[in-house]
Amino acid sequence: KRYGPGGVHLHTEQDQESDDVRLSMHWLYTVRHAIERDDMVLYYQPVYHIPSGTIAYYEALVRLVIDDKLVYPGEFISALERFQEASLLDKHVISKAIKTLADNPRLPKLAINLSAQAFQNEQLVPLIAEKLAEYSVDPARVIFELTESASLTNLSATQCMVKTLTEMGCAFSIDDFGTGFSTFSYLKSFPAETVKIDGSFVKELKNSEIDRALVRSIRDVAWTLGKMTVAEFVEDQETLDLLKEFKVEYAQGYFLGKPAPIEALDI
Ligand code: C2E
Ligand code: MG
Ligand code: MG
Ligand code: MG
Repeated sequence: KRYGPGGVHLHTEQDQESDDVRLSMHWLYTVRHAIERDDMVLYYQPVYHIPSGTIAYYEALVRLVIDDKLVYPGEFISALERFQEASLLDKHVISKAIKTLADNPRLPKLAINLSAQAFQNEQLVPLIAEKLAEYSVDPARVIFELTESASLTNLSATQCMVKTLTEMGCAFSIDDFGTGFSTFSYLKSFPAETVKIDGSFVKELKNSEIDRALVRSIRDVAWTLGKMTVAEFVEDQETLDLLKEFKVEYAQGYFLGKPAPIEALDI
């Protein structure tokens, strides 16, 4: 440890880094423990089909329960990724989500988020196939949401696994679109049915000419490639009206429905 004049401990960059590592390790152990004790819960947020105004599917969002309080994935997912342990959570969420589909036949479809590391794990596809068979769930009720970074690392292995799952009948969606590094050629070749426009472009839609232009462009490119678009972070009627005008097909956000436990859903 280094000390400054008068023996005061200066917090150095190295200290900061070891604090980060310690915090990440704390989350890794906490999540592992929570998975063992079944203390992870899924919340479900509706995604609306804009033209018909009906719910097309729900997205499963994981939460960690500690002392009756919810901890959001923003706190712990990057810690798992740091130690290459994110597929631990992916597997757990997949099992839980597929069971939810089996237990709730009136639930149309579920979108499941996968971490950036999901496809580095060869057991993932067999696990999905096994769970779908075990619970007799139609693969067509499952949509996997992948971020651009997830689909770009380990490209050929990812494409192979995505192909297998697509052939089984599952669908894919590219999450947080517009914030990653994907190219048009990648977007063209990736077999995603939908593109989810990142909330950062949607939040300020009614105030920002630039965001309106970007959302229209993303929608047009997606349309050209035969993909539909979903807008996240729809927080008011005005934004929904604009998306309708831009012919964005699906919308999700607090204005339409907040993430809620399964018992609270109107299904
Ligand atoms: P995401 O997949 O892009 O999910 C959208 C996030 O925005 C969710 O946060 C959701 O609660 C929040 N949100 C929804 N509507 C609105 C809105 O109108 N306004 C605002 N400001 N926020 C809204 P959450 O649940 O904290 O999840 C954050 C991220 O964590 C997700 O982003 C996803 O990347 C990741 N994540 C969530 N669940 C899982 C999971 O089961 N597995 C993995 N690997 N990642 C997950
Ligand atoms: Mg998502
Ligand atoms: Mg998203
Ligand atoms: Mg997002």
